Amino acid sequence: MAPEIKYTKLFINNEWVDAKSGKTFATYTPHDGSVIAHVAEGDKADIDLAVSAAKAAFHRNSEWRLLDASARGRLLNKFADLVERDAQYLVELESYNNGMLLNLAVHFIQNSSRSIRYYASLADKIQGDTIPADGDLFSYTLKQPIGVCGLILPWNGPIAMFINKVITALTAGCTVVVKPAEQTPLTALALAALFKEAGFPPGVVNVVNGFGPGAGTSLTHHPDVAKISFTGSAEVGKLIQQAAGKVNLKRVTLELGGKSPLVIMNDADLNVAVPCAANGVFGHQGQICIAASRLFVQSGIYDEFVKRAVEFAKNIKIGNPTEPTTQHGPQVDGEMMEKVLGYIEKGKREGAKLLTGGKRVGTKGFYIEPTVFAGVTDEMTIAKEEIFGPVQSILKFDTLEEVLDRANNTNYGLAAGIFTKDINNALQFAKHAEAGNVWVNTYFVFQPQLPFGGFKESGLGRENGIACVEPYLEVKTVAITLPKKF
Ligand code: NAP
Ligand code: MG
Repeated sequence: MAPEIKYTKLFINNEWVDAKSGKTFATYTPHDGSVIAHVAEGDKADIDLAVSAAKAAFHRNSEWRLLDASARGRLLNKFADLVERDAQYLVELESYNNGMLLNLAVHFIQNSSRSIRYYASLADKIQGDTIPADGDLFSYTLKQPIGVCGLILPWNGPIAMFINKVITALTAGCTVVVKPAEQTPLTALALAALFKEAGFPPGVVNVVNGFGPGAGTSLTHHPDVAKISFTGSAEVGKLIQQAAGKVNLKRVTLELGGKSPLVIMNDADLNVAVPCAANGVFGHQGQICIAASRLFVQSGIYDEFVKRAVEFAKNIKIGNPTEPTTQHGPQVDGEMMEKVLGYIEKGKREGAKLLTGGKRVGTKGFYIEPTVFAGVTDEMTIAKEEIFGPVQSILKFDTLEEVLDRANNTNYGLAAGIFTKDINNALQFAKHAEAGNVWVNTYFVFQPQLPFGGFKESGLGRENGIACVEPYLEVKTVAITLPKKF
């Protein structure tokens, strides 16, 4: 049965309101492409209202600013309690609106609730230093919240991204205006309701659904927004940094795309490496920024690996993501499905060998078969551009030196992985891979404690870990003259 859709309006100042224009837009389920709700369509006027509410909530005398840091931590833990209470509902809603497999949504919710508690425990540990300055001075630093933060979300991990970004900002003591992705507004609204129920004061968390041009640009160009945190395409990431530079030098954190290399050495355990590589690119139908979308396999095991990879892909069970036994669901929408099918056509045209998959499944919804290409070479489009779909591209290499140079020959730098039993290979690869995250004999390791982010055009700044609260803080240095020494 379809989950109940309880919230479709904008959430501003702890109230549910229509868009000023009265406009709404449809949101769909990717399983069959049918409309499941109409949500309010926020634009500049609504962003202005939400930013005013967030600014008022950030005033030095506001309820939020007067809260003890430890009380902020308790509120965050209360929010975690509510997320855990409603986990099943949130999982079903995420799967319905996004097409995410149920078990992946469960994993994300569990990880998110660990994140909330991790950050809740940090709220009262944000502290400055006392500094031994020269002369008769008493000097110290204060770390203070930066102000109103605009958080712009992608559609590929709606709950996880919402929670990650909002919680980090609140831990620092900031207030937020969130713009969810147009495809997946529903779980963001359900989570907003939980902030109100947990007792967060009005204006601390605001959610304005809408589109990039409109709600998104109004947020990035708003002079009262001190920081933007964004996850999405490199193209939009660059626009956001430009807007920040043009308006008020907003601080910017960007988590963008990738073309992540996964390297399989001759000595790898194929029983682990084959499923791990498949999951690394077919997981969430390939719609993850860290997808292992360039799979480099060493020549000694290449043929055997390709055979097993094809067998694995053929056995993946495709179906409705809301069924617990499904292993492969739909792409998020028709546009993304067409984009991925276009890359598959390019792969064929440019001479890659299509060994399995490559086609749309059925005529309803946005399903694509898990697809394996072998014989892929570095200059092919499918080896260079982010596909964001279930397309495994297998490339051949001979030596570690060679593969390191080829793996690094990209503007992206999000993740990289290696399977090998040789510790020297692993350490050399970890040292020289140009990527924010390197995984050895595994792929996809995410924990709240572990910083995550990209080199090069894969982003700016890090999420997760203690340090990721810093970009939501300003450092203030205070120097006080002391009376002359006695
Ligand atoms: P996108 O356009 O970068 O969208 C991400 C978010 O930014 C959405 O909320 C979007 O609004 C908003 N946005 C778009 N243009 C904006 C602007 N000029 N100013 C401010 N905000 C703006 O990504 P997409 O269209 O969903 O997907 C396109 C490609 O991006 C994918 O094929 C994939 O390669 C990549 N992508 C990467 C990630 C990641 O995790 N790094 C996630 C999603 C997509 P709308 O909802 O209206 O678009
Ligand atoms: Mg877009």
